[in-house]
Amino acid sequence: MARQIMVAGNWKMNGSRDSVKVLLDGIKAGLGNVTKSAVVVCPSYVFLADVEQMIAGTIIGLGAQNLSTESAGAFTGEISASMLKDFGCQYVIVGHSERRSLYGEDDALVAQKYAVARAAGLTPILCVGETLAEREQGITEEVVARQLDAVIELEGVAALADGVIAYEPVWAIGTGMTASPEQAQDVHAFIRSRIAEHDAAVADKVQILYGGSVKGANATELFSKPDIDGGLIGGASLDAEDFLKICSAAP
Ligand code: PEP
Repeated sequence: MARQIMVAGNWKMNGSRDSVKVLLDGIKAGLGNVTKSAVVVCPSYVFLADVEQMIAGTIIGLGAQNLSTESAGAFTGEISASMLKDFGCQYVIVGHSERRSLYGEDDALVAQKYAVARAAGLTPILCVGETLAEREQGITEEVVARQLDAVIELEGVAALADGVIAYEPVWAIGTGMTASPEQAQDVHAFIRSRIAEHDAAVADKVQILYGGSVKGANATELFSKPDIDGGLIGGASLDAEDFLKICSAAP
């Protein structure tokens, strides 16, 4: 069964109530041409309520960028899975490299976040990927395997069928340095084969997105690779025209 292409926009800590409205109006105006891809936007927490209303009745799905492992209580500044559900989220990004590198999230915590999201009925978008130094040392596969294995060990491989994986080489995020379609395909194929060692059906089903300086101009070539099932988009998701171009790039 062919996997559907998904394009998810990670808006990071950008925007205002006004700019988010302008961006979404622009995206909504062009959605008629998006016939093959699932489209998701991941705004900052504070915009979730506005965005939930603005995307009602469209094909756009809603995601958050992070969540707490705790369900409620004295955890100042944290947001729980049930709160995200309450605001219409279907997806949540876990383990983005910015969370890993700037906020000290390790594999074990990311795996816990994956588990908590899944238990709440959210679809976790699990980010994995190597730094430039790790690629240069030739340990890309080792790093990605370790990040994946943390989830498999905690939750079992079947849990991956309930999520989405985003391969995001850290050196390609926000740098303008995209992995070549061949480089990305190689790692995507590795991820799928690693999962297939446990369960071939899960490996075949799981959507693996590529993230790292995807633009309208390079999305078609990336998405035409057999193991690349769409993209997690940072910078280009803040520009309605470019984001729509990426959303229309499904082969
Ligand atoms: C990201 O942060 O998930 C990302 C892929 O960013 P960019 O597209 O800007 O490289």
